[in-house]
Amino acid sequence: MDIGVLKEEYIKKLKDELGIEKKVVFGEGAKNAKIMLIGEAPGRFEEEMGRPFVGQAGKNLDEFLNILGLNRDDLYITNVVKFRPTKKDAKTQRLSNRAPNKKEIELSKEFLFKEIDFIKPKIIVTLGNVPLKALLSDKASIGEYHGKLVNLDDKKIFPLYHPASIIYNRSLYDVYLEDLKKLRKVLEGEEYI
Ligand code: URA
Repeated sequence: MDIGVLKEEYIKKLKDELGIEKKVVFGEGAKNAKIMLIGEAPGRFEEEMGRPFVGQAGKNLDEFLNILGLNRDDLYITNVVKFRPTKKDAKTQRLSNRAPNKKEIELSKEFLFKEIDFIKPKIIVTLGNVPLKALLSDKASIGEYHGKLVNLDDKKIFPLYHPASIIYNRSLYDVYLEDLKKLRKVLEGEEYI
């Protein structure tokens, strides 16, 4: 199975089961990447460009990758939900981002797991609550799990806050830096990478 085929299946299932016909933004990066990053869902810029994490959250992400001494070529980056969930303002008719709902996440999870199987990363870095819950359990919360290495079957997961959360909450910045230091230690450890 290749990612292109997976993408076609996803587009079809979205239309058949949820009646959604939107631009789909699948993951990008090295097919043999040892590190896989998983975000929530594309936003406006991601939808426009057809690439994950190219808006403001992507700028924050790049800053953090820099701190880790990594660049995007070393990684595979994707999202749980692979289209932009939107809501319409009743007055202005303008579209804005919204959080993906349960149905959208459930449908998308199957494809996320296949994407993980295809890339077979040594470590998965989840960004925010949505990918953490999708992989671990609905009860898991980022406040509890951030900065801790979690073993899940044969997978190693390192949860981080979502890079966009720093935009809205600067006090998380120091926490984020601490978590990044821990992640760097994990990445340096031979047993992981
Ligand atoms: N936020 C995400 O979770 N994913 C993106 O691709 C962009 C912003």
